[in-house]
Amino acid sequence: MAGNITFTMIKPDAVKNGHIGAILNHITSAGYNIVAMKYTKLSKEKAGEFYAVHKERPFYGELVDFMSSGPIVAAVLSKDNAVEDFRTLIGSTNPAEAAEGTVRKLYATSIGENAVHGSDSDENAQIEANFHFAATEMF
Ligand code: GDP
Repeated sequence: MAGNITFTMIKPDAVKNGHIGAILNHITSAGYNIVAMKYTKLSKEKAGEFYAVHKERPFYGELVDFMSSGPIVAAVLSKDNAVEDFRTLIGSTNPAEAAEGTVRKLYATSIGENAVHGSDSDENAQIEANFHFAATEMF
């Protein structure tokens, strides 16, 4: 499976704003298969652990508060070149800089509340998938 999966979260802003269906449609229309999916909410601890790589960044506290502020959709997706193609599909971190038609351009509100997460490497995709899902929940 390595190289063919990515991990995503539809973040609390996009869930609150009613964009789950539209974002999932973008994802499946781009050719991704759903390997695992759940509607859930991160505790502050879990959000802090997931974004631990950003611990020293000035926005870390804000990011952890935001990501634990409401429900999310977490999913593992498969397709050839899953990680890179997904980063293209979602667009730049800052929606103001994201290309037209990308998920963040269409549905994100700010650099912090930017609608979706996408893994940045094959290695992290695997780590993030295993962080959120048991082997028995991935198909
Ligand atoms: P990504 O890989 O495009 O998600 O971007 P990064 O790995 O650089 O950052 C992780 C997440 O931290 C982003 O998706 C944003 O939710 C958040 N973030 C990044 N930069 C900022 C910032 O300057 N301010 C705030 N509040 N959040 C940020």
